[in-house]
Amino acid sequence: MKTFEARLLYDARATLGEGPVWNDAEQALYWVDIQPGLLHRLVPGAGVQVAADRNWQAPMPIGCFAFTRDGQILAAGSDGYGYLKPEGDQAVFQSVCDPEADKPYNRFNDGKCDAQGRFLAGSMASRHDGVRTPGGFYSLDPSGTCRTLLDDVSTSNGLAFTADGRTLYYIDSPTNEVAAFDYDPENGTIANRRVVARVDEGPGKTPDGMTIDIEGNLWVAVWGGSHIWCIDPATGDRLAEIRVPAIRTTSCCFGGPDYKTLFITSARVGLSDEELAKSPLSGGVFAVEPGVAGLPFPRFGA
Ligand code: CA
Repeated sequence: MKTFEARLLYDARATLGEGPVWNDAEQALYWVDIQPGLLHRLVPGAGVQVAADRNWQAPMPIGCFAFTRDGQILAAGSDGYGYLKPEGDQAVFQSVCDPEADKPYNRFNDGKCDAQGRFLAGSMASRHDGVRTPGGFYSLDPSGTCRTLLDDVSTSNGLAFTADGRTLYYIDSPTNEVAAFDYDPENGTIANRRVVARVDEGPGKTPDGMTIDIEGNLWVAVWGGSHIWCIDPATGDRLAEIRVPAIRTTSCCFGGPDYKTLFITSARVGLSDEELAKSPLSGGVFAVEPGVAGLPFPRFGA
């Protein structure tokens, strides 16, 4: 198995860095720090800590976002789906719909667009006064119609589509499974769930965000694992490991001029002072060239 070491790109010290999206037109990496509701834009430079980063403050936690075909940013967070409009240092939120308006303690987590321009995003179950409120997995159509794909998920996380758009890989973190669904690109429906890999590494370590490369292999961030696995979904085999100098690796995406750089986000939330002393770069954004390319992100819209 091949092993790679990720390098620090930006010492962000993010609480919960997540949702990296490469913007091809700007040659910039956008990502979010979920809990403080910060949308970041990072322009990679050469070497360590020379990347230029700026951020915008959203009015609530933002789990994920996608660029739209007309150059806007569509996000999903604790108030459902909506547009994020950078204005000065703020990111104004313009609501589109909130399929969990009746679940005040849930919030949206990870999401991505399909090739037809729908934005699929899932939420996290919550527990309040001893009552569990399940999360869901949703698809927002460019027309503004939101439909439920799954109605009982715990921590909806990584998703990735195959290049032909007919298979959706999906992680509900506490299952420790990477699942696959048949995806119907015309109707935007999912069916036939099966498990393609297990990521079972012990307490506190669960599969989180993921992306896919042009060979069809998955790159899965392991929360609590300090690494990314490259997994062949046809066999479940691990083909490569990327070691990251951060305990809570959260997500990754391909980008750069040739889509050959894998960008990795991480988190500091919940780490003890001792863990932070051992892993001071936790919360940073990292990069590595693992020898394979990814594909541009589909955009939201018709
Ligand atoms: Ca995540």
